[in-house]
Amino acid sequence: MKKQLIAGNWKMNGSLVTNEALVNALAAGVGSAQCQIAVCVPSPYLAQVRGLVSGTGIDVGAQDVSVHESGAYTGEVSAGMLRDFGVRYCLVGHSERRQYHGETDAVVADKAQRALAAGVTPIVCVGETLAERETGRTEEVVKRQLAAVVHTNGHCISEIVVAYEPVWAIGTGKTASPEEAQQVHAVLRAQLRAATPKADRVLILYGGSMNAANAAQLLSQPDIDGGLVGGASLKPADFLSIIAAAH
Ligand code: PEP
Repeated sequence: MKKQLIAGNWKMNGSLVTNEALVNALAAGVGSAQCQIAVCVPSPYLAQVRGLVSGTGIDVGAQDVSVHESGAYTGEVSAGMLRDFGVRYCLVGHSERRQYHGETDAVVADKAQRALAAGVTPIVCVGETLAERETGRTEEVVKRQLAAVVHTNGHCISEIVVAYEPVWAIGTGKTASPEEAQQVHAVLRAQLRAATPKADRVLILYGGSMNAANAAQLLSQPDIDGGLVGGASLKPADFLSIIAAAH
């Protein structure tokens, strides 16, 4: 049976000192974890965190990747550079990238392709805004977002991780109910099944105010294969509780 994945998204938080304390606290507590674990950290800290997690079973992820392979793209970080630092996962299309950096579905699809080509697993984030949910457009939006990635990545699509993150639930303390989340995950699974015979292997994570209190119920849904965790991933006790609820 596939193992669930709990991935922390530190966003733009951390320092050399606090990262060390956080990772050491996690390392001390993950001993009996049944699931896969990753922390997606700001790029400058990839090398530090890679060293800190060595031998703990925790993987390192990045939060973004350039759509370009190399060249005159000041400030960008390529998928090959991430691979050089032993990065296993890379978030692509997080709603904060779509919202504040104008990332389109096509750009997100191309970023996923760059990551896959470099041997980094893209965690492709999809999700509807509150306005889209309230006007009954949730399925249409997430299917459009995933379709772009399926179209660009063809048979490699079974190598991605998907994260369903309703935008209205990110950092707000509002969580989709387990049933609401499962409904969308089932739609995404069906879309993947239409694209690849290996769809059941694809991990579909839920993200959006997942915490120690709600994780177990969310993670017990049939098509929820893990969590993408923002705020709670910065608090070792909370993140460890979520990890303990996963299998
Ligand atoms: C996220 O940043 O992907 C996220 C889900 O954040 P939070 O858990 O804080 O809602």
